Amino acid sequence: MGLTERINQTDQLSYYEGQIPVEYVYTYGLGLEKFFRAIKDDGKFLASRCLECGITYFPVRSFCERCLGKIEDTVAVPGTGKVYAFTVVHLNMDESPKKEPALVALIDVDGTDCRFLHYLTGVEAYEVRVGMKVKPILKAKKDRRGHIEDILGFQPA
Ligand SMILES: [Zn+2]
Repeated sequence: MGLTERINQTDQLSYYEGQIPVEYVYTYGLGLEKFFRAIKDDGKFLASRCLECGITYFPVRSFCERCLGKIEDTVAVPGTGKVYAFTVVHLNMDESPKKEPALVALIDVDGTDCRFLHYLTGVEAYEVRVGMKVKPILKAKKDRRGHIEDILGFQPA
């Protein structure tokens, strides 16, 4: 069966092994570029507010996910928040075991209507509680690259 043939019986699926060379350039887009540039250059966190809906997005968005309106206003937020949910991660993305388990939390970001997924640091899993106040920890300014890893994680506030 060739790649253009239609699959009518899913119990007779086949697959092809091999590699497909793909070259790409990933860009953050306008919103995320503002977000990561503010962290890299100033150690500040930005959110964006849809004036139509009143929703404050974190990280910055260029368009409202509810009304699809363009968002141009950014607002500074402290980057602090509260743990909404958390888990302990034992496997890497390739399913190999991690050297050390990692704590990951979904954080209600203060001053926004959004939750942000990132590492929890400086705390043991048995100490974490839903509602625990946390603050972001950034890399030293000289080491920031305008990347999600500029945020080392969140620790108890
Ligand atoms: Zn909106």
